[in-house]
Amino acid sequence: MDNCIFCKIAEGEIPSNTIYEDEDFRVILDISPANIGHCLVIPKKHFKDITEIDSEILSKGIKIAQKTAKAQKKALNADGVNILQNNGESAGQTVNHFHIHVIPRFKGDDVVIEFNSKEHSNEEFAEIKEKIAKELQ
Ligand code: 5GP
Ligand code: ZN
Repeated sequence: MDNCIFCKIAEGEIPSNTIYEDEDFRVILDISPANIGHCLVIPKKHFKDITEIDSEILSKGIKIAQKTAKAQKKALNADGVNILQNNGESAGQTVNHFHIHVIPRFKGDDVVIEFNSKEHSNEEFAEIKEKIAKELQ
């Protein structure tokens, strides 16, 4: 994809702090990390988001995210790790090339990942369950 910054980074046209690379993926340090060591797992092929990514590539990507999380725990002595993945502007996606955030967490750090809970009636839960389940058939 022309003019996609993550295509250029993944292919090595734009330099990055690369911590892992294979024929399908590059793992880099996020330029504006939530915590030190915040990584992005980026496929070399362009996919806009999780709805468009090839499922084999996705499977490989989540395994690389798992390895990255384990490496962060060891290397940085992280207490925990958040795996985040944003799809669409409303969900906070700012770079429209699929990527997985792997964020090391430390007890008492100032990273905020939150959502406000909503309440629904049992009827509303039942209705929404049917709607989504139907699409999964
Ligand atoms: P999103 O909001 O799309 O889920 O995440 C995009 C992430 O990419 C952000 O955390 C942002 O800091 C990071 N990012 C954007 N441009 C660059 C760049 O040129 N280099 C690196 N290493 N990270 C970038
Ligand atoms: Zn791209």
